[in-house]
Parts: sequence; C-alpha cells; structure tokens
Amino acid sequence: MITIDGSEGEGGGQVLRTALGLSLLTGKAFKIYNIRAGRKKPGLMRQHQTAVKAAIEISGASAHGDALGSQALEFTPKSVKAGNYCFSVGTAGSCILVLQAILPPLLVADKPSCLTLEGGTHNPYAPPFEFLADSFLPILARMGANVSVQLERAGFYPAGGGRLTVMIEPVKRWVVPDIMERGNIHAQKGRILLSSLPHHIGERELKTVKAKLGWNPSCLSIEGVDSRGPGNMVVLSVQSDALTETFTGCGQKGVKAERVASRTCKQLRRYISSEACVGVYLADQLLIPMAMAGGGRFTTLKVSQHFLTNAQIIKRFLEINIEIIRLKEPGPNQSEPNHSEPNLSIWEIRIGRKP
Ligand code: ATP
Repeated sequence: MITIDGSEGEGGGQVLRTALGLSLLTGKAFKIYNIRAGRKKPGLMRQHQTAVKAAIEISGASAHGDALGSQALEFTPKSVKAGNYCFSVGTAGSCILVLQAILPPLLVADKPSCLTLEGGTHNPYAPPFEFLADSFLPILARMGANVSVQLERAGFYPAGGGRLTVMIEPVKRWVVPDIMERGNIHAQKGRILLSSLPHHIGERELKTVKAKLGWNPSCLSIEGVDSRGPGNMVVLSVQSDALTETFTGCGQKGVKAERVASRTCKQLRRYISSEACVGVYLADQLLIPMAMAGGGRFTTLKVSQHFLTNAQIIKRFLEINIEIIRLKEPGPNQSEPNHSEPNLSIWEIRIGRKP
C-alpha cells in the first residue's frame, strides 16, 4: 500500500487524481491523508468525489473515505473495464478534471470506452474544453492515443450543467514524443465565447486582443455558446510546427472585460517570447502520458509547483526518471519594444524508464 501525504507540494486535487489514475493503471493500492490540505476548503469537493466514484465504477475498486469533505481515503483498485459510462459532478466543478483521473487506465483497457461527463467545461483553474481538444489531445494522438471529444453544452461557474462526450481508443503502440523545437508559428486564433451575456463584453475583449496582439481581424471571432447559465471565456491559440498551445481567461463578475482579455494576452506573449514549446499547464498534464509511454522530452518555459508535485506522485507508482534541465537562464528583455515580457528561462524535461 502506497501512502501519500496530500499536503505535499501543491497540496491540491492533482495529488488525488494522479494517484487514482496510476493506482488503476498499476493495480497498486494507496491511502492518502491531508487531502487538499493546501486549499482554503480542504478535503474532497464534488469534482474530486466524482473522480473517486468514477474510478470505483470503472474498476469495481473498494474505497473508504469517499464522502464529501473527507480528508483521508483508502483505495484498492481492481481490474479496469472499458465501456459506456456517465459521470456527473453535479456542480460547476470541472468534469474535464474527472477525465484526467480516469483517462490513463482507459487508454490501456482491452476495448474502447465512451464517456459522458457533466459539470463544468470552462473553469478558470482547470483545462477548458478548447485546451483539451486543441492542445492536449492532439499530442496524445501523436503518441498513439486516440481520444476524441465533443462538447454538447458548455458549463460555466456557477450554473455548471456542461456536457461532453469522450471516445477513448486503447493505445496499440506508444510513440515517445520529442517536442524540443517550436519551429514557425503558422496560425493564430482568438475566440471570445459568450453565453447569455451582453454582446459588448465580447466586443470589448476582442478590441483588447486586437490592440494587444495586433492580430488580423480575420482570425478573431465572437461565438455564442449554449450553456445553462451566463459565461464568458477568451480563448487564444497559436499553432506552431510543434503543437498548438491554448491560453484562456475566464470572464468573472466584477472583473472588467478588458482585464480578462489583457491577462490572457499576457500569458500568450510570455509563451511566444520564451521560445519554449510547451506552456506551463500542458507541461504538468503531459507527464502522465509520457510516463505511460516510457519516455519523451520537451521544452517548457516554467516548472510550476504543480508540475513538481505531479512528478513526485508519478514516481511513487511508476519506475520513471523525470529530469529537469535548465537550458537557458532568464536574461534582459531583448524582445520587440512593445513586448513587455522579460526574456524567460527555458527548461528541458526528460522522461525515461529507470534503468
Ligand atoms: P484544487 O487544487 O483546489 O484541489 P483542482 O482539483 O481543481 O483544485 P489542481 O490541483 O489545481 O486542481 O489542478 C488543476 C489542473 O488544471 C492542472 O492539471 C492544471 O494544469 C490544469 N489547469 C489549470 N488552469 C488551466 C488552464 N488555464 N489551461 C489549461 N489547464 C489548466
């Protein structure tokens, strides 16, 4: 039985999700205490509880301590069964994070699976649907893992009620990725998603994006989305030879539309001026698939606490080395004069099986 202190590092929900996914993958039981001790409201929230219930349902696992608010859980997996499943968070909690927990074992199941997931699909502190569809899953596909997603309805905080379907094909042969050179950027897109909110919000965001990034109006759009409640997200993506990166900003009551858009532009400009391939969120999310593939490497612009915590938990379940190498020190700003971003460091992440 692997014992995990949930307050380690980031001390958030990722520790639990990674443990659940890799426990199902490896058949190793675990117990975790201090669940989400680093958060204001510690213990299992609906999103985390749904992930535990989903892990139980796809494997017939036994679990003690899976009640809402629980700060300790003991989880003993059984063998995973592919199939058709529906999991509903019941709040605006991210259903994409529920997918994060159960995707690893379903990728190596004996048959395809079809999931219907309900809850938040466009959350501020979780991968939004566009990030999943345009950035994360295409890399997984290159690694031999074919997962397709379809958004049936968007779910924003506080109404939730989003729904997506996910088709998961088991991996036949893993391909180890090498994402070291970004190459040319050949497409960029700015989308403003709006649901049940005045159109001027989208127009102001679009205007800010145009002014900050100088993008051609032909790659900018305002899109009405179907959702149970009001919602707004700025979605900026850049497609390079290496991959598509997606940066998002969630509209929030009390935060000006211009601010939402300019914060999102800032993330994108940081990324572009760093020359690294993989952004900060994609970096922590690629760790599990690469560990499953037995290797891979990429450059990234920042090694987050989240990344380090995820790496620690992965190493508790799998015999994997995760090396972090600084390729470039941060230097003075050498980018164009209207780019306010400092010249950032670049890191190489190298994953490989232990000899
Ligand atoms: P808590 O930490 O409160 O328990 P949680 O369970 O929602 O929250 P975290 O542990 O914070 O989750 O993990 C959040 C996950 O969402 C990480 O994998 C991170 O990479 C991802 N993420 C957060 N924000 C974004 C974003 N804007 N775009 C893509 N991915 C994101």
